[in-house]
Amino acid sequence: MQLANAAFSATSRAPTSCSALPRSSAPLRHAVLPHQNLVAETGRLQPKHRSLKPEATKTPYPPPSRVIQTDAPTDVEYDAVIVGGGMGGLATAAQLVAKGAKVVVLEKYLLPGGSAAHFKRAGFTFDVGSSMMFGMGQEGTTNLITKCLQAVGRQLPTVPDPTQVVYHLPKSERFPQGLHVSVWRRYEAFLTELGERFPHERAGIRAFYDECWKVFNSLNVLELKSLEEPRYLLGQFAVQPLACLTLASMVAANTGEVARRHIKDPELLRFIDIECFIWSTVSADLTPMINSGMVFCDRHFGGINYPVGGVGRIGEELAEGIIEHGGHVAYKAHVKEILLAEEAAGGGEQRQQRAVGVRLADGRVFRGKTVISNATRWDTFEGLIGEDKLPTSEKLFRQRYKKSPSFFSLHMGVRAEVLRGLSDCHHILLEDWGKMEDARGVVFLSLPSLLDPSLAPPGYHVVHAFTPDWIDNWQDLSPSEYEAAKEAVSDQLCERLEAVLPGLREGIVFREAGTPRTHRRYLSRVDGSYGPIPSRRPLGMLSMPLNTTDIRGLYCVGDSTFPGQGVNAVVFSGFGCAHRVLCDLGREPTWPLLDQAYGRLLAAVRNAS
Ligand SMILES: Cc1cc2nc3c(=O)[nH]c(=O)nc-3n(C[C@H](O)[C@H](O)[C@H](O)COP(=O)(O)OP(=O)(O)OC[C@H]3O[C@@H](n4cnc5c(N)ncnc54)[C@H](O)[C@@H]3O)c2cc1C
Repeated sequence: MQLANAAFSATSRAPTSCSALPRSSAPLRHAVLPHQNLVAETGRLQPKHRSLKPEATKTPYPPPSRVIQTDAPTDVEYDAVIVGGGMGGLATAAQLVAKGAKVVVLEKYLLPGGSAAHFKRAGFTFDVGSSMMFGMGQEGTTNLITKCLQAVGRQLPTVPDPTQVVYHLPKSERFPQGLHVSVWRRYEAFLTELGERFPHERAGIRAFYDECWKVFNSLNVLELKSLEEPRYLLGQFAVQPLACLTLASMVAANTGEVARRHIKDPELLRFIDIECFIWSTVSADLTPMINSGMVFCDRHFGGINYPVGGVGRIGEELAEGIIEHGGHVAYKAHVKEILLAEEAAGGGEQRQQRAVGVRLADGRVFRGKTVISNATRWDTFEGLIGEDKLPTSEKLFRQRYKKSPSFFSLHMGVRAEVLRGLSDCHHILLEDWGKMEDARGVVFLSLPSLLDPSLAPPGYHVVHAFTPDWIDNWQDLSPSEYEAAKEAVSDQLCERLEAVLPGLREGIVFREAGTPRTHRRYLSRVDGSYGPIPSRRPLGMLSMPLNTTDIRGLYCVGDSTFPGQGVNAVVFSGFGCAHRVLCDLGREPTWPLLDQAYGRLLAAVRNAS
């Protein structure tokens, strides 16, 4: 994920054309491409290939023609100053500008989207992280990415994925060739396939997933806004009482306990674990039922849909829409500090802190009535405010939640023959159930050019493989040790991938690895972490913080807030955050007294969980 390399090459190098790709086979250890300059000099392919060097294979992105906006007025007071242009920050900004609020998004990098951005190399378009896109359907209310784009007058063509994912799970006595299950877009087709693997559990399987539908169907009729706003919640209750009561009965539940009510087979329960793990990075016991309801049903309702041109198109469209609606999105805007001021609390002597703006690394100051942080909670509080000012609620959060591992990622361009016969975009590999939660245990494989051929030159495909990994495995290495370790782990990963992609190693024409250090550096995420995971059994969704914080005027958005990781999830948090901010700015109706009492109740339940 050498995002910066790609972007910084914008002015210095000519674009790599498709014709620059080699047509003969490349040795595995050094994925090779002809040096761009040789092609440029002679106008044809050179027979002699050179070892892959990032400088030799950059495809300028953003393209040189695109002016990167780095400026925004500093002489105004914004309604909201947003730190970070990941999907959480952009979703919030889109909702706010759509309601006429004055907003600036300050993004450290050169592109919008954060973990859901994309970058280009050697004619290939690679998704930084996400490529399994929920929330892009056309019906219901949980299609929040679609709705978010619409809020700023945008839409994106998508390609429907026939499956969410294909699992390739460990061998066992019952499954000597391994347990292979496709999660089909059609719910009944998925239940039939899973039922064929576990015929004695057919009824339990249906009963469990039907429970998930109860959650999803309830959510999918509600207008999804801030769960911290009682006036809106009561309004929803008045029009959809049954849906609200169903959700209320599930808010404190975790998926594992619901699964065990219906399913007894230990191997099938492990399958439910990995169904959760692939997006929550924890087992079913630690995954709130509300989240599972969203994920396990939207894949069949709206389906998994791939945005044409790459996942990064979503962030790009949102950023353009925000600007069109009068907002500002400034890149290369590294926020170093959230500025706080003291103010009177209530009527008495007590004082409290209020966020009033931010200071950038280059010294610029942006002032706002509110500050919204899309950085992780650790980067926000310890990084931008200071450990000594950590509010009690944040200390308690750090007891309930810990940082999840990061990922080791491998982005590859391969000859089309490698994917011959495959039609499914997402695959999960695990060889040993005992290693599901270990570093480099589960392998995630995405093949998005199967859905959108524009991501690769004709005759080639894009392969993105990643596996959880800890930053500690990559610290204290000399540059040569670091490169050697990257090469070794890449080779091991490719060997494992041969189970799904036989002939992969011979078919690679481009290979670039990203480690947890790469994630930390280019995504500005503490330890490169994927986000918070519970360190003990949570009280369902009630343990996760929402958008407000103990510092007045400071809000958090993104995967450090409910409902957690995943693009549609962080967009949901953006909808909630924007709504709460609009209420606090007096732009949406609210009942302040009830608000405060309800806020205190939520915090008390959360802090005690
Ligand atoms: C490898 C991988 C695969 C994934 N696959 C999927 C998938 O298939 N489907 C799915 O739905 N989800 C997937 N996810 C998860 C999903 O991408 C994330 O949960 C989501 O994009 C997080 O969004 P966010 O806005 O909370 O944070 P981020 O994406 O981290 O965005 C935060 C932004 O804030 C900026 N920032 C941080 N600090 C500062 C600062 N001080 N100043 C200025 N800017 C700052 C960062 O540069 C970044 O752009 C994946 C994630 C990874 C890493």
